[in-house]
Amino acid sequence: MPTPPNAPDSAIIALLGDGYSNKRIATELHVDKVRVARLRREHSIPNVVQQPLTLEQKWATRTRPVEGGHLEWVGERATASGTPVMRYKEAYYSPAAVAFEIKHGRPAEGYVRADCGYKQCVAPDHVNDEAGRQEARRKLRAERGLGDPSQECSRGHSQAEHGRFEPDGTAYCQMCKVLDKRAQRFGKPSLRPRAASLEDAFRLRTKPTSGGHVCWTGSFNNSTPSLRFQHVNHSPYRIAFRLHHGRDPEGQAKPACGMPHCVAGAHLEDRPMRQRTNSLYDAIFGA
Ligand SMILES: [Zn+2]
Ligand SMILES: [Zn+2]
Ligand SMILES: [Zn+2]
Repeated sequence: MPTPPNAPDSAIIALLGDGYSNKRIATELHVDKVRVARLRREHSIPNVVQQPLTLEQKWATRTRPVEGGHLEWVGERATASGTPVMRYKEAYYSPAAVAFEIKHGRPAEGYVRADCGYKQCVAPDHVNDEAGRQEARRKLRAERGLGDPSQECSRGHSQAEHGRFEPDGTAYCQMCKVLDKRAQRFGKPSLRPRAASLEDAFRLRTKPTSGGHVCWTGSFNNSTPSLRFQHVNHSPYRIAFRLHHGRDPEGQAKPACGMPHCVAGAHLEDRPMRQRTNSLYDAIFGA
């Protein structure tokens, strides 16, 4: 709509009365902002009270629901990494952290991200902070019957402070991870990676082979696989059995696959299982 180059005072006063800001009127009518401000003073029209969006409101305007309950970030992203970022009142925020606070009503502890599989999802129901993620993994660990993690790692770090869990519930020492990374960066010769948990130590000494068998690469005691962890000898058969079945074996756990020293969890049998197998044989071939 073409506006006369020099709008009359009445046009400006009309818009002032409608509650528009000086800046908006100046732009709209192509007039000087100073003139608008002078007319506002002369007519005692109060300044427009700015009603900026809250952090959460601004966050919401930059999200878009995606199938599966996910929430896509359609706002700003960091140039190099593509990580969602949000600017609010001169400060930068993580949209995932804002989502966390919306859901939990408290600031996140540590790095916030979603574990739902949708890349950089910012759905409040899908994001978690470090503490929440660790708690979920601890539950998974308990469900898998892996037991409580050790009090100390093999280097003596307190696991109450430095203990963490992998997505599958395996325990590891965060401090050792940091130290190992640092050692790698400075090119120090790396020893065998330090195990933070018994199952970790077990995993570091196994190698899958063909046929689904798992080869024991650790030490032996009287030609039986043996694993020394935190000054105690453990049976790799028992560990493998527990990892696979989620329970301790009754009696001895031994491979039933015919491959000597196989530590594939699915190939191990304990006493009740052996008895069942034997009675099955008896039933088929006669006792
Ligand atoms: Zn999601
Ligand atoms: Zn450690
Ligand atoms: Zn086997």
